[in-house]
Amino acid sequence: MATGTIVINEIRCKGCTLCTTVCPQDIIHMDTGRVNEKGYTPAILVDPDQRCTGCAICAVICPDVCITVYRDIPASKLHRNVA
Ligand code: SF4
Ligand code: SF4
Repeated sequence: MATGTIVINEIRCKGCTLCTTVCPQDIIHMDTGRVNEKGYTPAILVDPDQRCTGCAICAVICPDVCITVYRDIPASKLHRNVA
């Protein structure tokens, strides 16, 4: 299975919770112990077991374009320069 990770731009997050409802791995949560500089509770990635697949569903649904997705590319699919 593909692997990946995300970075959430907490400053832009308005705490709508949409991303938490769509992640198939259930690894995005609301960081209820604090607020960002706009006063919203930000979303946070909690993925100690590296279950993120890089599917990007969270990024697609975020209305404020807060989420950047990084997907690992298997070495076998990387182009190689052969001299
Ligand atoms: S990229 Fe997919 S698996 Fe990873 S956090 Fe977003 S919705 Fe979840
Ligand atoms: S969908 Fe976007 S704005 Fe809403 S909680 Fe998630 S990161 Fe924040």
